[in-house]
Formats: sequence, C-alpha cells, structure tokens
Amino acid sequence: MFDTLSDRLTSVLQNLRGKGKLSDADIDSTAREIRIALLEADVALPVVRAFIAQVKERAKGAEVSEALNPAQQVIKIVNEELIAILGGETRRLNLAKNPPSVIMLAGLQGAGKTTLAGKLALWLKKQGHAPLLVACDLQRPNAVTQLQVVGERAGVTTFAPEPGNGVGDPVDVARRGIEEAKRAQHDIVVVDTAGRLGVDEELMRQAADIRDAVRPDETLFVVDAMIGQDAVTTAEAFRDGVGFTGVVLTKLDGDARGGAALSVREVTGQPILFASNGEKLEDFDTFHPDRMASRILGMGDMLTLIEQAEKAFDQEKAEEAAAKLGAGELTLEDFLEQMLAVRKMGPIGNLLGMLPGAGQMKDQLAQVDDKQLDRVQAIIRGMTPAERENPKIINSSRRQRIAKGSGVAVREVNDLVDRFFQAKKTMQQMMGRFGMGPGGGRKN
Ligand code: GDP
Repeated sequence: MFDTLSDRLTSVLQNLRGKGKLSDADIDSTAREIRIALLEADVALPVVRAFIAQVKERAKGAEVSEALNPAQQVIKIVNEELIAILGGETRRLNLAKNPPSVIMLAGLQGAGKTTLAGKLALWLKKQGHAPLLVACDLQRPNAVTQLQVVGERAGVTTFAPEPGNGVGDPVDVARRGIEEAKRAQHDIVVVDTAGRLGVDEELMRQAADIRDAVRPDETLFVVDAMIGQDAVTTAEAFRDGVGFTGVVLTKLDGDARGGAALSVREVTGQPILFASNGEKLEDFDTFHPDRMASRILGMGDMLTLIEQAEKAFDQEKAEEAAAKLGAGELTLEDFLEQMLAVRKMGPIGNLLGMLPGAGQMKDQLAQVDDKQLDRVQAIIRGMTPAERENPKIINSSRRQRIAKGSGVAVREVNDLVDRFFQAKKTMQQMMGRFGMGPGGGRKN
C-alpha cells in the first residue's frame, strides 16, 4: 500500500536535499513532480489540485524557519498537507450515552463488510465492550453464515434470522437485533447490511430503511482501497443514498497505489475511522492520519511501532532487560523473552516495514523469514538454563548437543551464539552512547 507513491515522493523530496535556498522554479518543479506522483497513485484530480496549490502557496510563502533547511521545510509542508487531506485528527468512534450504541456497516458487495464486522467486534471486545453482531445481509447467499463464522472467531454473539423463513425482512431483523442487545445487555450493536455489486437504488433504499429503523450512532461506509478511482464515485453515491458518518478502508494490504484512501475523506468530507489490512481478524486498527502521512513519506511509522511495542512488551521485563543490557549482563534467556515479545507484535517483515527508511529496504525485508526466527527459538529452547544464563560456557560439545536436540545444523548454533555476542556488544555501545549504561538510565 502506498509503496509507489512513497517511493516517488521520497525521491522527489530527496532531490531538494543540499539546496541552500529554494527558488520559485525549484518549488514549481517539485510541485509538478508531486502532482504526477499523486495522479499516478490514483488520487482524485480535484484533491490533487487542492493539495498542490496549498503546498506551493505555503512553500513560497513567508513560512521561513530558522530551524529547518529548505528541503526539510518542504517535507514538513507536504507532511502537514497529507495529514490534512487524510482528515487531520484521529477520529474515534462516537458511542451513545445510553447503550446500546449502534454501528451500521454499508458498502458494495465484496468491500469487506462482513469481515470488518468480525474485526470490529474483536477490537471492541478487546476494549472491554460486549458487542452483538446483527446479520441484516439477507441478499447474498451465505452472508448470514459468514457473519456467524467471523462472530464465532471473534468470540462474540451473532443475532441472525431463524433459518427456513424465506428471505426475510432485514429491517425487521435489525429491529429485533437491537431488542436482543438490550435484553442480553450488549453495549454495542454492529449491523451488517447487504452490499450491492454496483450502486443500486433498491438496495440503497433498503439500507436507508434499516438506518431509519435502528438510528445508528455511526454509519460506516466500507470501501475496498483496491478499487481505485471508483472508490470516490461509490462513496459519493452512498453519501447521497444512505449517508454515513465515517469511512473504513479495507484491503490496504493489497493496493500499491492507494489514491482512494487519499481522496475519500476529502471528497466526502467524512473521516476515515479504521483501516483493514489483511484477511485475519487482527489485521485492523484505528486510522491515524498523521501516522499514515509519515508512512507515505517514507519516514516510517514510529508511533505505530511504539504503540504495538507497548502492547506486546511486558514493561517490567523490558526495563529489566535494558538494565541488564547496560550492565553487560544480558543472557540468552532474556534474548528469547524479548524475541517472543517482539513476535507478538506480528510478522517480523511487517514490523520492520514500519521503521524509517524501510521503503528502500523492501527486498531485504521480503527475505526476513519468520521461520528463521522459529529456528532461533528452537535453538535457545534446546539449551540448558545454565547455558542460556552464561552463553560463554557453550563449547563445541555443547553446541553439538544443542544442534541435535533442536534439529538444526551445528553451524546454525554457532551463528546464533556469535550473533548474540555481536548484538550484545553493539547494544552496549548504543546504550553507552545514549547514556543508558549502568547508572546512566532514567533518574526517577
Ligand atoms: P462483504 O461482501 O462486504 O461482506 O465482503 P466480505 O467481508 O465477504 O469480504 C470480501 C473478501 O475480501 C473476502 O474474501 C475477505 O476475506 C476479503 N477481505 C476483507 N477485508 C480484507 C482486507 O483488509 N485485506 C484483504 N487482503 N482481504 C480482505
């Protein structure tokens, strides 16, 4: 997602590096390059025009900063304008004062609504809510069963019409779903509605009827980021036909261009609330315009990384490891623990992709292999506690035993031990540089 745009913008902005002062001609040619990059990424033309005009005006204007060089200033402006078209502030879900809150999902067939219902349910559950899924897509064969399956995977209840009653009335199901939520004390109801292959008046009316019956606190327009420019026209049709309060972008994992994402918010005036980037229920998160902008600019998504790290890491253990590291006492046991914590954050390639400059390391990242990590884990598990505690004692006969026990070649054990000592040395040097060695850490 955004890879091409990101590469293009990074190289356009890199051309400015080293320039002492930017002439109007420099700014014009940079703006032209950015314009091409955005159009190639499938961003809607009016959005591109407004964006470029704004960047040019600001870059030529009086915004002269002592602290930044000209290239940095342009990057800053482009970044801020990207954040603005993506919606500015992160928009949270609006929930009702008196539960249950109702979230209705609308969008084309195949946009990912049913999958999203499961993702949202799991996400809400993790936040301490008790969601109920309501199956109002009675149009598509199997949609009800599909919702029940994702509901089960998310560990939440699904309310569905009884089978064998013909097609059924989705408005009636929606109403009864809300009643059921009240009865069983669910605080949030997620209503899945029927999609359509194209914009279709009859189904649009049905969605509007459901909306009138359940009076949602949020109506989320679900849109597949891979449909490119069509996303904009579809969004406009749903805005006029049903109305929505927020957008969910799906399949961000699949689209290399991503212009839809950059246009939908600007064109419809409604914020993007969530982004879906995979088929698994966990591949889903709140949409943060600022983080997305910095990712597009190839600055890496440090904030997401930090947030994920915080979620996965045991703070106490991490601090303990950092202290040991500073004192040169890190053991393979700590190494294993940290590795398991990192792996909880997701596939290692995704994780590394968020680091600054990762855009240019794509090929290497593609080679980072989770299986390799499995092997490292197996090797450490094959060591005795004494060996993990003090890797220096791992002599050649121990290496052979470990290799045999963990089903790898002796060479791999050697590699791991060497890399561990090397990493330890590097980390110690880094900690020293940041003043985090023994006694140099936080002083509170
Ligand atoms: P609906 O018709 O709107 O309910 O769409 P579905 O939820 O059935 O999704 C259509 C297809 O898209 C399914 O095969 C999903 O697994 C897939 N899908 C949904 N969300 C994502 C996503 O974020 N990434 C990818 N790669 N596939 C997705």
